[in-house]
Amino acid sequence: MKDSKTKSTILTFAVMALMACQNNSVKTENSPPQSISSAEISTKYIIADLHVDVPYRLEENYADVTVATEDGDFDYPRAKSGGLDAPFMSIYIPAEIEATGGDSTAVANKLIDSVEAIVNSAPNKFALAYSTDQVKDNFSKGLISLPMGMENGAPIAGDLRNLKHFYDRGIRYITLSHSLSNHISDSSYDEARPAKGLTKFGKKLVTAMNITGVMVDVSHISDLAFYDVMATSQTPVIASHSSARKFTPGFERNMDDNMIKLLAANGGVIFINFGSTFVSQTSIESYAVYKAAMDQFLQANNLKEDSDEAKSFTESYRKANPFPFADLNDVLDHFDHVVKLAGIDHVGIGSDYDGVGDSLPTGLKDVSTYPNLIDGLLNRGYSEADIAKILSGNLMRVWQQVEVFAANN
Ligand SMILES: [Zn+2]
Repeated sequence: MKDSKTKSTILTFAVMALMACQNNSVKTENSPPQSISSAEISTKYIIADLHVDVPYRLEENYADVTVATEDGDFDYPRAKSGGLDAPFMSIYIPAEIEATGGDSTAVANKLIDSVEAIVNSAPNKFALAYSTDQVKDNFSKGLISLPMGMENGAPIAGDLRNLKHFYDRGIRYITLSHSLSNHISDSSYDEARPAKGLTKFGKKLVTAMNITGVMVDVSHISDLAFYDVMATSQTPVIASHSSARKFTPGFERNMDDNMIKLLAANGGVIFINFGSTFVSQTSIESYAVYKAAMDQFLQANNLKEDSDEAKSFTESYRKANPFPFADLNDVLDHFDHVVKLAGIDHVGIGSDYDGVGDSLPTGLKDVSTYPNLIDGLLNRGYSEADIAKILSGNLMRVWQQVEVFAANN
């Protein structure tokens, strides 16, 4: 009796699942045929990605990204085949540099040099882009723009003259803090939150960024700091690479529904991070179990994280416990959620390619895969005009508003 009841329950679920699948496929078959393919969309519109960690990848392990590279998520041939036109190069500054009294400003200058070097070595493929007009102009010439965003405001070093300096060098957004609270803002990853939001200087900096024409990026900062930014900024702000906390409860690095609504009400945009541990709770939990096992192993054997022993530990651990990667559908759920919550004008792409290691979802493994994302959006009923907003329309709107505000102030 008990068994048969279980069986009939399983059968009911199986039938329901089948019906769900059939409904889905019927819907797709009955939808009007798409008049435009994902490949066509990927070349017709500017594709911007707000967060690609190429400079620090090259800093750690140099590769010539103007040609195909063996490692990493980004190189010219893959970017071209994915239709990528404006990847923001992340000028990523490790939080430990400020925390240990090091020179973050010098590191930022060096990383900007490295982006300029890419452009100088292949001016027929890449171009710098300091403005929305330059992105459009480069696109019309078939060049990939390399605009720049600074991940961690540490290089400002408490001196607004550095903001002007980095603006002049092409920085067009600043993520106020990274993994540790800094002299500008508390961090979502740091238990120590001395400012309870933005610091006094942080508030001054946000206003100065408005006046200078640098977008304010709320990714990585604490919730209280986010609300301080919203109360301070006179222009729409961005989250350059964050996802929706609804799917990852308790993960402060993502944005909750209220924050997304407030960001949108101010005209801002959340650019969705693709990393499995940003979009899937299963991936987050699995990673946490692995991390605990790794920490225990390192401690028990008095080893460092980058030791050969740690690497072979990871290899055998992953053989026994394969990582549950997120997939394209998980990522699409985040886009859907933001659209439902705030509308189509407030979401974009902030993949974190070259920044989240090998945790990228199935179907979105590198910069050649934007057409898969477009395909997924088409299948979920997004129109060509909607997709164009996600690919770059929303970014261009905010960036232009920031440019206009700066020009008038
Ligand atoms: Zn980041």
